[in-house]
Formats: sequence, C-alpha cells, structure tokens
Amino acid sequence: MTQTLQFNLVACGDDHDPTALPVDQARQRILDTITPLGANATERLDLLNCLDRVLAEDIVATSNVPPHMNSAMDGYALTATDIPINTTRELRVVGSSFAGHPFQEVCGSGECVRIMTGGLVPNGLDTVIPQESVQLLPENYIRIDGRTRSGDNVRLAGEDLQIGQTVLSRGRRITAADLGLIASLGIGEVAVKRYLKVAFFSTGDELCSIDTPLMPGQIYDSNRYTLFGMLSHQHCQIKDFGVVRDDPAQLRSTLLAAADGYDVVIATGGVSVGEADYVRDVLAELGSIAFWKVAMKPGRPLTFGYLRQALFFGLPGNPVAVMVNFSQFVQPALKRLAGEISHPPLMLNAVTTSTLKKRAGRTEYQRGILSQAEDGSLIVTKTGNQGSGILLSMSRANCFIVLNAQQTHIDVGEVVMVQPFVDCL
Ligand code: AMP
Ligand code: MG
Repeated sequence: MTQTLQFNLVACGDDHDPTALPVDQARQRILDTITPLGANATERLDLLNCLDRVLAEDIVATSNVPPHMNSAMDGYALTATDIPINTTRELRVVGSSFAGHPFQEVCGSGECVRIMTGGLVPNGLDTVIPQESVQLLPENYIRIDGRTRSGDNVRLAGEDLQIGQTVLSRGRRITAADLGLIASLGIGEVAVKRYLKVAFFSTGDELCSIDTPLMPGQIYDSNRYTLFGMLSHQHCQIKDFGVVRDDPAQLRSTLLAAADGYDVVIATGGVSVGEADYVRDVLAELGSIAFWKVAMKPGRPLTFGYLRQALFFGLPGNPVAVMVNFSQFVQPALKRLAGEISHPPLMLNAVTTSTLKKRAGRTEYQRGILSQAEDGSLIVTKTGNQGSGILLSMSRANCFIVLNAQQTHIDVGEVVMVQPFVDCL
C-alpha cells in the first residue's frame, strides 16, 4: 500500500525558525496518516493471553452479574415484613444457604434462613440481618430487633453487570480488572488485535555494541536499549536490526529488510543538520518521507513517513531526544495503528523547586522528579544537567516538565506543567 502524504516539507535551520512545526501539529499530521489495523488483523485468544492486548470486539453481558440475589454478610435471610418496629421478634431458623449450597425449600413468614456471604437469598426473602445483630435462642430460634432496614445486606442480581450492557468497548487495552470482568461473564475467549511488528536500528559509524571493547572515538549504542524498553511497554513484537554504518548501501538494504513484514520501522541518528545527505536521498528513493523541524527541545529534527506499507520514524540520535520523540510521536502513533482508543496524556500542575530557563519559540521537555510536599501539594525538581545527550537526566526523572513556547524564565515557586511518565517511559 503506497500512501500519498500531504507533507509540508520544512527545511532544518537555526533555533528560531518560525516555520518549525509546533509539537501538537506534528503529532496530528502523523496521526492523520494512520489507518488502524483492520478486522483482518485480529485473533481469538484464550482469556489468559489477553492481558494488555487491544480488544477487537465489544464485550456485551450475556448474563447478569451476579446472576442471583445473594448475601453481602454472614447472618440470617428473612422477609422485610418480619422486621419488628420498636420491639423484638423471634424467628425460626428453617435451613441454611451457604455460598454454592442454596436453600432449596420454602421459607415463610416468621421463619428465616441461616446465610453466609455469597449464599443465594432464597425465593421470597429480601433482607439479611448480620449475625452480630441477632440473639441466638435455643431450638433454632433467633431474636431480632428493628435496626435492619428492608433490602439491607443483599447484593441484587445484575448489580455489577446487566444483561445486554456493553461492558468493554473495542479499542480498549485489556487490564487485570477487565480480565476478571470478562471471566465473571463466563467468557473464555476474546478477539484482540494482533501485535504490532516493529523493527528498529541505530545509525552511526561511532556506535559500538556492548559486547565489544570501545575503540577511540566510539561510544556504546544506548538507543537500541531505550527503544527496546519503550517498545516492550507498548506490547509490540520487536526486531532489532542492530547498528547500521553511515553507508548508503547498508542503510538501503536495512531499510528494505525492515520495511518487509513490519508495521513500523524506527531508526535513530543521522537526521540532524550536516548529516550526510544520502540519508535523505535513500529515504526519498524508498518511500514517501518528510523531514520536519519541530519546535521542541530536545528532539527538533524528525523524519516521518512511509516505507512501503510501514510507518517510518527517523529519530534524532541524541539519547534523550530519542525518548522524548518516542513519547510525543511514536507512542501515540503506535496506539492509533493498534486500534487502541487512547486519551491525551495526563498533565498536572506542580510548583517548581528549581529555576528553569529556556529560549522562546519552542516547547521544552525538561526532566523532573515529581513528588508531594508535606501539605500534599505537587512539587517538581529538575534532574540536573538537561543536555540532550545526558541520559541520566531521564533515568532519574519520573516526569517531563513541559515548558511552552512563550516561557523563558521560571522562578522557584512558580507553577509549571508536568507530564508524568506513564505507559511507555
Ligand atoms: P546524530 O543524530 O546521528 O547526529 O547523532 C547525534 C548524537 O547522538 C551524536 O553525539 C551521536 O554520537 C549520538 N548518538 C547517535 N546514535 C546513538 C546511539 N544509538 N546511542 C548513543 N548515542 C547515539
Ligand atoms: Mg550519526
């Protein structure tokens, strides 16, 4: 499938380029090109294999949960008309209803049934008196008073789920609670979207794999490890294509291999200004790709488009930029492609305990530690050096401090917006 993309090609330039795309616009352009996996991309799985998968069908209740009225307490089931007003009354205990062992006979007026939590409330009865509220008498009698109200301590049929109710909608990522909910309906198999297949690789002549000693001028490749972690959190099937040298032929063959059979291809490095032009040439030759300058820091240069049917992201090589761009662009794109109904990320207000500075004209994703002050209010502290190569600033952080384009200087005590790391980081 070849996609025709309406890209606005923006040349990379200096920091103050007014043509740089705002983050929201860049994200929206990406999302607008994505068609979610279709009905042919689903599989029916045993419920126990469905955790964290995207639901491909609505789950509709085919029965009430609970199926029958049952007791919420250990006590005695009776009809509310037997509850005395301003006096006491004696009732005969005619049988018992334990969880899984219902009382099968008839219980009339002046009678009651010993009942345990989860035990069926026998036909005709509607109220349970807790055992703490009754006085035991000889010969299977109890004495009750008027403190219990009609309908107390029973769980009604269908009070959790009602027949015909849409319990979970397609597009939902299945949680532990959802597994229980589906099981409570007696459903053992569910249609879910197949895993997304994601290929990734790093580019750069300086990169060395962690099992090899470093030669002068080399650094270890960390991006494939952060990508591995972030993609694993997205529940994708991942394939690591390793390190690709700054060599057009190798780049071309890796891109072709990665585009074959994968839904998404992610490359890091080689997209900044001054990088050899063949990267662009190779990408342009193989697919429909746009190079954007996004008004953000870190992560300004971004390459996005399609290599054949595969979504392609060329992320900047700097380790923090990779993680920022992944969280702002790749993750929402993966969710959309997977057919997941997603919501905008949680943004919170917090008081900064650090002075923050930035240039106007771009959104900055500084790294912070969000915590609670003694009075319960949220505070955030910057994690030291904010260079886009300082991965420690990400490792120490639990949130981004998101500073908008207009902000330039924020004093200690001012309120800033933070985006907690959830879901992918
Ligand atoms: P590039 O985008 O290729 O110009 O790279 C920008 C910076 O990120 C350079 O300092 C690279 O050495 C560094 N870098 C690129 N790829 C990686 C990687 N896979 N792991 C760690 N650092 C990287
Ligand atoms: Mg490079």
